[in-house]
Amino acid sequence: MSSGAKIIDGAAIAESIRAEVGKGVSEWVASGRARPGLATVLVGDNPASQSYVKSKQKACQEVGIASFGYTLPATASQSEVEGLVAQLDNDPQVNGILVQLPLPAGLDEERVLRSISIEKDVDGFHPMNIGRLAQKGRNPLFIPCTPAGIMVLLEKSIPSLVGVNAVVLGRSNIVGMPVALLLVRANASVTICHSYSRDLPGIVRGADVLVAAVGKAEMVRGSWIKPGAVVIDVGMNRVTDATRPRGYRLVGDVAFEEAKEIASAITPVPGGVGPMTIAMLLKNTLHAAQLTS
Ligand code: NDP
Repeated sequence: MSSGAKIIDGAAIAESIRAEVGKGVSEWVASGRARPGLATVLVGDNPASQSYVKSKQKACQEVGIASFGYTLPATASQSEVEGLVAQLDNDPQVNGILVQLPLPAGLDEERVLRSISIEKDVDGFHPMNIGRLAQKGRNPLFIPCTPAGIMVLLEKSIPSLVGVNAVVLGRSNIVGMPVALLLVRANASVTICHSYSRDLPGIVRGADVLVAAVGKAEMVRGSWIKPGAVVIDVGMNRVTDATRPRGYRLVGDVAFEEAKEIASAITPVPGGVGPMTIAMLLKNTLHAAQLTS
């Protein structure tokens, strides 16, 4: 048993990426090019989505990326949403288009994502970008932000991913599946688990690298963790806590206090994966500007 895992400081790593992007943007603009721009599209009034969009816009401003916010009512039709995306797609000031998910019920998310041109798909969710991620010898133009952030955290926490046993809990389009594809590209041996998987503790015990993205508070117990494993906890779950001003606290999918005694490195929640997502979005937006000039 280890005497305590290294705590992977996602906030500090994200901060250094933001600083790098800020420097990149300054140099880009100083060389006479147009300021990179990100358009956000928010449909409806989901408070969590509103707050994510606000944080993304604020982060853009901090690194000198222009941000253009568009809001449509929850009653917007498919053609209204696609019409807005088409308008942004043709706008030379807009290098990246981010449609905040989930969209209100009744809208076809897949069709909306497909209507973004892949050169502006800074979220990396266009089926063509995901398809390229899955194919050997092909490269996506953009990698989805949370999975890309997870890979940065792993690169900083393990000397090599080649041949390691990696277990990914969760197979969603936005986290589990793309992170599994990235791990395969990094030459890890990958097991993907989901709600039909049998004997999760047994599978997790074989993991040199564990990525937990299920959305179940502290589901992964310390006794599941292989001694010395690197644990990336993507989960962000609210649990009631009357001692907190908001009445809840955030916990991950992993029982942190137990797991940190066994793992060699682990991300905290909050302050692990969360801050990386926006940092990678900023990086993708600068990349989009560089692609299209
Ligand atoms: P989804 O709900 O889309 O996917 C959850 C996945 O976990 C599914 O594949 C599901 O399986 C699987 N699953 C659910 N319950 C179990 C179980 N008991 N055993 C095994 N597998 C299970 O979630 P997301 O991928 O969008 O998000 C996962 C977590 O990550 C959430 O807590 C979310 O808040 C957080 N998150 C954090 C981000 C960040 O920036 N830090 C960004 C995005 C998400 P099945 O496919 O069979 O249904």
